[in-house]
Amino acid sequence: MESEVRSYCRGWPVVFDRARGSHLYDEDGHAYLDFFAGAGALNYGHNNPVLKRALLDYIERDGITHGLDMSTTAKRAFLESFQNNVLRPRDLPYKVMFPGPTGTNAVEAALKLARKVKGREAVVSFTNAFHGMSLGALAVTGNAFKRAGAGIPLVHGTPMPFDGYLDGQVPDFLWFERLLEDRGSGLNRPAAVIVETVQGEGGINVARMEWLRRLSELCRTHDMLLIVDDIQMGCGRTGPFFSFEEAGIVPDIVTLSKSIGGYGLPMSLTLFRPELDVWEPGEHNGTFRGNNPAFVTATAALETYWADGQMEKQTLARGEQVEQALSAICEEGAGHGARYRGRGLVWGLEFADRARASAVCARAFELGLLVETSGPVGEVVKLLPALTISPDELDEGLRILARAVRET
Ligand code: PLP
Repeated sequence: MESEVRSYCRGWPVVFDRARGSHLYDEDGHAYLDFFAGAGALNYGHNNPVLKRALLDYIERDGITHGLDMSTTAKRAFLESFQNNVLRPRDLPYKVMFPGPTGTNAVEAALKLARKVKGREAVVSFTNAFHGMSLGALAVTGNAFKRAGAGIPLVHGTPMPFDGYLDGQVPDFLWFERLLEDRGSGLNRPAAVIVETVQGEGGINVARMEWLRRLSELCRTHDMLLIVDDIQMGCGRTGPFFSFEEAGIVPDIVTLSKSIGGYGLPMSLTLFRPELDVWEPGEHNGTFRGNNPAFVTATAALETYWADGQMEKQTLARGEQVEQALSAICEEGAGHGARYRGRGLVWGLEFADRARASAVCARAFELGLLVETSGPVGEVVKLLPALTISPDELDEGLRILARAVRET
């Protein structure tokens, strides 16, 4: 590990070896309860047995394993399952595109497509947003530290205040409306708005449903495309399959990645309204656009967890369990003024500063729980357990968290 480039390797001081369900094990066999779920890529837990069986069967029969985007039975089965279990029941009209293996690829494709359709450059994004590490995605990411990694000023992003960031105290869309007036109706007007319904990396900032509805309306009246980045909050993290469903909005473009593959294999989707299908074949391509083993695990996940409405109900029930525990932690004097917020099974516990949040994570680790910080300065402890976690495991993790807060 010493020979690794000094980049970013998550700081837990052990070497992990294997994982199952909601537990990881280090090379000495110590178990850790996982409230991190591969940064949201493992909504169905580690080595989920149903997905593992599907993958092993596929490999044993010499199924195609490469990633070139061509017609395969695995891809066809995924597309059918995605239509039947996700798009059709929600009456969503989207075309499905495979833009590459990562979430960043999906965002980059969404931005390119929106700009090509509208023939305009600017894209409105929000304070504390995170959309990925390539130049286009970074330009709409509200994190100066990460943008600085590019070494050049990143243009074409137009930042606006996010709803949840200031607890709704920012006058509703006042700045945004002024900007649109100022830009008029010409080429200076933004092509699109990109938003997360809950900012994951930005500190679990939860947008109000009315705010999302108003944003969607503004996009319609000012001829801008609405892109919802559901890479972290989609695939059931907030309860419904898509995090925007509760607001009753239908974005023009949606990005998905992380848990769409189900088993942690890289895969991403850019979904868009059929009338935005303006690319000629080959205008946006790449070698790893069709991860066939990921199609297999993704299909198994959709068939197992999304063929009925049970997943959403279960996630919301587990979410209530988390909310009660966080409320108790914050009411207890030991919480030192901590605040909590979240939806479904994504929650944040915000402390006064980064040092306290980091100390809580470090103590939780010693007690056998993996949690990470997020937020503008890392002051939020982020809870992102697998959606398949059992009530007992969830309870155990929440007890460890409460103890870590008390002891730091
Ligand atoms: N968008 C959101 C909302 C994310 O949370 C992330 C990653 O955390 C990305 C985009 C980038 O995805 P990836 O890391 O797979 O490139």
